[in-house]
Amino acid sequence: MHGFPEATRRARTREAMGAAAGADALWWPDASICPSPNQDARPNGLEPELIVIHAISLPPGQFGGRFIEQLFTNRLDPLEHPFFEEIADLRVSAHVLIGRDGLATQFVSFDRRAWHAGASCWNGRERCNDFSIGIELEGCDERAFTDEQYSALVRLIRWLRGRFPRLAAEDAIAGHSDIAPGRKTDPGPHFNWHRLWAGLAEESGT
Ligand SMILES: [Zn+2]
Repeated sequence: MHGFPEATRRARTREAMGAAAGADALWWPDASICPSPNQDARPNGLEPELIVIHAISLPPGQFGGRFIEQLFTNRLDPLEHPFFEEIADLRVSAHVLIGRDGLATQFVSFDRRAWHAGASCWNGRERCNDFSIGIELEGCDERAFTDEQYSALVRLIRWLRGRFPRLAAEDAIAGHSDIAPGRKTDPGPHFNWHRLWAGLAEESGT
């Protein structure tokens, strides 16, 4: 899936990012780093209070290309696929993408605002990007997610909860369709919430 071995890529990107103060708390150690320009500061220094689960595939229904990374870094070629013409100018990102193989890529540091939710509302609060972490699973409305994706998602959420205690609240995980109903359908009918809850309970030993 990637141009050179995962371990090498990870080491190289970490080196390139440098060991900035506190950086370890803001980048998931299990993810490769691919910085996105589509980000800015969280207003008023807000802490993450919500995890938004998304699903994406590019082109729709196809897996395994580099197109999602390209979209999140404004490098998607509109000539590669008719659908890309519609979306190539979008300025969007997520904090983390989890591929079908369970490998994760992080685009935005967790203390910064990624641009994933759009017009949205959670518990009466609008602009969910301000206070949320966006996690994209490579997937679509028609197919089940993989074991590797659930496993990586559980590990990531456990890790995030260790750093941002508010994310341990019962209602702190939502689907994009929950915060943008009528506008978004992801993560879709095949995302198994019971499996996520069971994984989180099991992994945390409760
Ligand atoms: Zn979404």
